[in-house]
Amino acid sequence: MTPAATFSATPSSDVDEAALRAGPRAFVDAELAPRADAFDEAAEIPEWFLTSLAEQGMWGAVRTGGMVAFGVLHEEVGRGCSSARSLLTVHSMALYALDRWGSAAMRERWLDPMTEGGRLGAFCLTEPGAGSDITAVAATARPAPGGGWLLDGHKKWVTGGERADLLLVFARTERGVSAFLVPADTPGLTRTPVRGLLGTRAALTAEIRFDGCRLPAEALLGAEGMGTAIAAGVLDIGRYSVASGSVGIVQACLDASVHHATTRRQGGVLIGRHQLIQKMITEMAVNLRAARALCLRAGRLKEAGDPATIVETCAAKYLASVSAMRAATDAVQIHGASGCSAERSVARYFRDAKIMEIIEGSSQIQEVLIAQHALTAAGGARPAARAGAPAAPEGSTA
Ligand SMILES: Cc1cc2nc3c(=O)[nH]c(=O)nc-3n(C[C@H](O)[C@H](O)[C@H](O)COP(=O)(O)OP(=O)(O)OC[C@H]3O[C@@H](n4cnc5c(N)ncnc54)[C@H](O)[C@@H]3O)c2cc1C
Repeated sequence: MTPAATFSATPSSDVDEAALRAGPRAFVDAELAPRADAFDEAAEIPEWFLTSLAEQGMWGAVRTGGMVAFGVLHEEVGRGCSSARSLLTVHSMALYALDRWGSAAMRERWLDPMTEGGRLGAFCLTEPGAGSDITAVAATARPAPGGGWLLDGHKKWVTGGERADLLLVFARTERGVSAFLVPADTPGLTRTPVRGLLGTRAALTAEIRFDGCRLPAEALLGAEGMGTAIAAGVLDIGRYSVASGSVGIVQACLDASVHHATTRRQGGVLIGRHQLIQKMITEMAVNLRAARALCLRAGRLKEAGDPATIVETCAAKYLASVSAMRAATDAVQIHGASGCSAERSVARYFRDAKIMEIIEGSSQIQEVLIAQHALTAAGGARPAARAGAPAAPEGSTA
């Protein structure tokens, strides 16, 4: 394995943010951003580029560099290509679960190759009937004769599912929802690529069926019935990654908009001279600062092991994803017709930004979670649970 070239393994707290950003930024500018439209068009990130990410030490960042560095890395990758960031997100979620709750046998087999990026992970929670409400999971795992488990179910919208080697799967067992690590070559597992998505088109998304997949006992993460708690922990990592990647989209929209506003003339002047254009650029620049500051705060709290990071991550994800959609809408507006075409990357930012408001807990779910936290913190009664509503403010909802 080539040593990490751009992603530092020095703990984030020892390095300032600009130093953490320099390596990933250079790689993204030189290697990723110039190819991202082509990846999107081909609906695929090719294998050789996944290997390049491994050579940069990016796949193992959730374990190796500290959480501020992880966030900065995911912002920079998200600035260049949301599909690549999405693949890093779900891999990091699976790797985090393996590291934190995996059995000795699973850690022995998977931890090093997953950290180095020789093996990739994915996250399988959503089902046809279970989206925001993870307690509705219908996949089942029952004890197999002679030991282990038999897994049956249907998972949808699995980012990286077409390519992943190890799947983090949530299924119902006798004691509630449980989490399992399932090698993708397990007999009975089939995957079907999903094409024609609005955004993150190159993220190798698939739907996956499990038909009597036999799993060894050590495939279970933590204890039986711990699935909801494990999902909450893993989704916190995923949200932080998506929040950071959304900041990257805002930055990309601002950069493209400033460039266009300072080169395109209409009415005899550069369009950047028009105050209505300036207003859109101001909104992007201000939301960028605010969302980046919230991500940084969430990352620092994670490094400090402070549980307040959970609601701070919800806040960061909420503001960053809403800001990304707004910035992308305005970036297309500033670019006029060219922004509506494949001529400009802003069309891709627009499509990708919408996905950010849906994944890892939709904007509505973040609104519910943040409000529940505020009401509880103020000593008020928690709102009565409704069907499909999140049961806890701590992010147990996808
Ligand atoms: C590109 C893409 C990649 C994805 N990758 C993955 C992946 O890797 N792994 C995975 O498991 N899943 C993945 N997903 C699925 C994603 O997590 C779900 O789409 C998301 O959780 C929302 O679920 P849903 O689509 O079923 O919508 P629903 O839950 O049916 O929600 C529909 C609408 O109702 C709103 N809503 C739902 N509940 C509430 C409530 N309590 N209060 C207020 N409003 C509510 C939602 O905000 C939304 O607007 C992906 C989705 C996309 C689009």
